[in-house]
Amino acid sequence: MLSGLNPPQMAAVTHIGGPLLVVAGAGSGKTRVLTRRIAYLMAERKVAPYQILAITFTNKAAGEMKERVADLVGPVARSMWVSTFHSACVRLLRQEASRLGYGNSFSIYDQADSLKLISLVSKDLNLDAKRYPPRQFQSMISNAKNELLGPHDYAAGAQNKFEQVVAEVYAVYQRRLQQANAMDFDDLILKSVEVLQLFPESKARFRSRFLHVLVDEYQDTNHAQYILIRELVGDASDGAPPAELCVVGDADQSIYGFRGATIRNIMQFEMDYPQATTILLEQNYRSTQNILNAANAVITQNESRKEKNLWSDSGAGAALVGYVAESEHDEAEFVKDEIRALQRAGSSEPGDTAIFYRTNAQSRVFEEIFMRAALPYKVVGGLRFYERKEVKDLLAYLRVLANPNDEISLRRIINVPKRGIGDRALDYVEAFAKNSELSFWSGLHRCSEISEMPARAAGSIHQFLSMVSALRVLVEAKVRPSVIIEAVLEQSGLLTELSSSSDPQDEVRVENLQELVAVSMEYEARPFESLGEDEEISLAGFLEQVSLVADADEIPEGEDHGGVVTFMTLHTAKGLEFPTVFLTGLEDGIFPHARTLGEKSEIEEERRLAYVGLTRARLRLYLTRAEYRSSWGSPTYNPASRFLEEIPEAVIDWRNKGTASATYATSSARRSSFSAPPARATGKKSVAIELAVGERVSHDTFGLGTVVSLAGEGDKAEATINFGQYGEKRLLLRYAPVEKL
Ligand code: ATP
Ligand code: MG
Repeated sequence: MLSGLNPPQMAAVTHIGGPLLVVAGAGSGKTRVLTRRIAYLMAERKVAPYQILAITFTNKAAGEMKERVADLVGPVARSMWVSTFHSACVRLLRQEASRLGYGNSFSIYDQADSLKLISLVSKDLNLDAKRYPPRQFQSMISNAKNELLGPHDYAAGAQNKFEQVVAEVYAVYQRRLQQANAMDFDDLILKSVEVLQLFPESKARFRSRFLHVLVDEYQDTNHAQYILIRELVGDASDGAPPAELCVVGDADQSIYGFRGATIRNIMQFEMDYPQATTILLEQNYRSTQNILNAANAVITQNESRKEKNLWSDSGAGAALVGYVAESEHDEAEFVKDEIRALQRAGSSEPGDTAIFYRTNAQSRVFEEIFMRAALPYKVVGGLRFYERKEVKDLLAYLRVLANPNDEISLRRIINVPKRGIGDRALDYVEAFAKNSELSFWSGLHRCSEISEMPARAAGSIHQFLSMVSALRVLVEAKVRPSVIIEAVLEQSGLLTELSSSSDPQDEVRVENLQELVAVSMEYEARPFESLGEDEEISLAGFLEQVSLVADADEIPEGEDHGGVVTFMTLHTAKGLEFPTVFLTGLEDGIFPHARTLGEKSEIEEERRLAYVGLTRARLRLYLTRAEYRSSWGSPTYNPASRFLEEIPEAVIDWRNKGTASATYATSSARRSSFSAPPARATGKKSVAIELAVGERVSHDTFGLGTVVSLAGEGDKAEATINFGQYGEKRLLLRYAPVEKL
């Protein structure tokens, strides 16, 4: 149980009693400590699996942990709760939500469903979508929920007219969710906290059950999650001894600030839990010293952080490889060629390799190049399978079967495929339901009573309803999910519509629907051990699993990742490791993201993201950037990422340094991006205009400006120009759309 652990790791695994915080840099074995501690608790301290609650960052990590524990203690591992925050909360709520007035087969709304409901609410309140974008409501409501502010609290704290409107939308949105017996992702946490805080007997149940609470990646918890843990651990005030709490994390890897995560939770652990013990881990077992030197050099640029000393005894290792590509296509070509070369040399396989980028959109070019080269790859995230229209349609059918009050799903499918039930008819139903204080579902049943309702529409609605009730019989009879799905596909007409179409895209759609049947069969074939003790194979269970998949759950399984190169964003890469890593798009404006350039705290979060990216690599790390990128319509030149320049030259072996000014950029002038005129896209090179300091110029985008300074010559000539309200921009004159006045 303790073999292969260093002394501080061992101390953490065997620690008994008060709260324990393990803080340490990347790759120092925090997750290993957590897993071992669980095994140790059961084997040595005779803790029963059902007394353990462990929170991991992905469902996959949870599954792996559970398997390992099952190897050790057998099928009783089932009763252990190892899961993500969201999955744990769903389990809690399936048992307790009735106390809050929800049915236990509540639907879980994803971002798109929730946005749809918010749009409906805004429409009801006659809000102009231009002045009040539903997306903005969504993010403000989400922030409020992460802070555990309900509609009342939010309204009380509203500072201006806009926030008052948000408060109103929030209140109605919440009411509609409840009527639909649905919760959004943030509700899962918020409602769990509500249950624990409002119902002492409910809290007592969980408090007496969980004697151990363990949390991985603690730096990314938000306020609501923090309180949830605090409630579950408890203090002595309610008579029962608090649970043993063990959290592990690294403040330098906190990358979800935009979702309300707060480093405060880790920084002030000792204050929140005065009897806490803190253990530091300093040896990194993942990466070579060169990789660590690079990562350390970057992260030390952040202010207000605790200095850490992370070292590795696996030797200096290979130098990092740097490559400046001319365009994003060249960048992808280089990456592809290099993966092939490594394979030929026998030093690394495609399955050992990951390509990281800042935003999902950047995967496209890599996909094109890899596809053409027939180099197998897997893109994790992006437009996900479960977000495709046809898949969402089918899932909406299933959700209605499980929960007919689910208005958003009901509206989604009632006329898919087309059955002559138009928006007009639905508006009548809605008004009727509202006046008679009925749910939308009950309103549909009484649609014949609506005088304006055309007889044909009413007929179609009744037909639809009788189809749904026939299908619901299958659910009540606990028929296997895959059988229910097949029945839905057939009886709804979804499949007939797509198979009879001549659009080749529809063929892909049919395949996707069949894929969902396959997913449900996989779900049914799950090993018994992987089911929780209160879980059974059911439609609700299947829907729950599907609602909670995260990007990281799509990563190909096994040591060699199925032999394919894995593409993913830096955010998804957290907690993972690969022998060979390509960190791409290292340009100011790409990474760090353009949106963050003006704000120091945001740049610091980007820098932590860089630290996460760099520390995923075990043996080989490539750093690439493109001098010129055309992906977003107009071609742009971005200077080298400041993170690239923070890495000591000594650890980078440059294959290609590029032509532009990256190497002589000064940090003070690095605020701006270069702009290039469309001429560049067609390959024509324009001649740089000649300017003198003090001259007045006009720029297509920034308007009038004054030349502040000049640097470089010929093709590399650049000027720093002050554009008044736009500030100073550093422009490469060959490409800048600038004219002399
Ligand atoms: P991150 O901060 O990225 O989440 P971590 O601190 O959780 O990293 P782990 O993933 O637990 O680190 O461990 C990193 C690697 O080091 C893993 O491959 C793990 O198996 C290995 N490792 C951890 N501790 C030891 C040890 N004492 N001896 C040998 N290998 C170890
Ligand atoms: Mg970890």
